[in-house]
Amino acid sequence: MNLHGFTARDGELEVGGVGVRRLAARAGGTPFYAYDRARLRARVAGLRAALPAAVRIHYAVKANPLPALVQHMAGLVDGLDVASTGELAIALDAGMPAARIGFAGPGKRAEELRQASAAGALVNLESEREVALLAGIGQATGWRPPVALRVNPDFQLKGAGMSMGGGQRPFGVDAEQAPAVLAAIGAAGLDFRGFHLFAGSQNLRPAAIVEAQRAALALARRLAAHAPAPVRHLNLGGGFGIPYFPGETELDLAPIAAGLAELAADAATSLPGAELVLELGRWLVGGAGVYVCQVLDRKVSRGRTFLVCDGGLHHHLAASGNFGQAVRRNFPVAIATAVGAAPAGPVSVVGPLCTPLDLLADQVDLPAAGPGDLVAVFQSGAYGASASPQRFLGHPPARELLV
Ligand SMILES: *Cc1c(COP(=O)(O)O)cnc(C)c1O
Repeated sequence: MNLHGFTARDGELEVGGVGVRRLAARAGGTPFYAYDRARLRARVAGLRAALPAAVRIHYAVKANPLPALVQHMAGLVDGLDVASTGELAIALDAGMPAARIGFAGPGKRAEELRQASAAGALVNLESEREVALLAGIGQATGWRPPVALRVNPDFQLKGAGMSMGGGQRPFGVDAEQAPAVLAAIGAAGLDFRGFHLFAGSQNLRPAAIVEAQRAALALARRLAAHAPAPVRHLNLGGGFGIPYFPGETELDLAPIAAGLAELAADAATSLPGAELVLELGRWLVGGAGVYVCQVLDRKVSRGRTFLVCDGGLHHHLAASGNFGQAVRRNFPVAIATAVGAAPAGPVSVVGPLCTPLDLLADQVDLPAAGPGDLVAVFQSGAYGASASPQRFLGHPPARELLV
């Protein structure tokens, strides 16, 4: 049975060498998310070993903003990327130097730009309005944070689960408009450092990722001619996918590493002095987390068996299929208290909410389980607790543990 990198002892799933029943007791009950520190460390180390040394690895905090986890990641990666001032505060508290924190987001309030300027974080500018606001803040305060221009590329990331660039987007400025905005950045006297390009999320096709990164470098080279200062920073975005569903496999890093080695060599001459940055969220943290809830009831309704659990959609919207999926498919699940036991026929794992959307796994063949057993949902370290409507129906929020 596939435990997605976790271990089991005497039929009980473990995270960081601790059984889930004990973790539940430590957490003060179920449901909870548990994230494995050692696996996070190994994941970053594996990526570093695979990629050219010149490529900087940033963690995109929005994938999992638990402060303890961000602090752990801050000690492993080269920088953090944030998409709100709430995340900025977590990144600064984690001890990451402000100069290695990038702040992006399509709608930044003046107060947020002020906060990022005061901190000294790299501001990814996404409109002429933001250029003008930041220039005004600089004139009033003397603060001169580094800035990059976020560009909505003139290409799409093929095969991305969630497209975030190319075509008509609220993110960044269109590549066609970039020369004018670069001129505005220069006229405002802002500290221009480079470009930020992010094409899409959850991609499992290495060739598509390589192609998008190559196109991003080519676009940056073209736009560099319009830039007010040499490009020293080129953020190629994130988007590396992880396998959730049957038939999907781990992303092969070798072709991506080979592509990046070519790009790094190209950039060394075409954009001398520019650092290449990847900002990864899901790929870094997704596999290291598991969501665990407890079976409250076992019901049979006209021949269909339901395991009704104390956790569900309100904690784990993605596993219910309502976040980033066009067609609902089951996340990998297991009975965490009966690992290795023989399957006993199909069951549907549902949560406690009064909505048919609260479905964690539909008709999966699991070992026999009933009240008191624990259900584990794997691949739950990214876009879990913080990406779920935890207040919906007023149940308590999920506990979160870094083990
Ligand atoms: C969400 C996001 C990321 C991370 O995407 P993943 O698919 O989790 O790697 C990176 N950069 C920006 C700008 C984002 O909005």
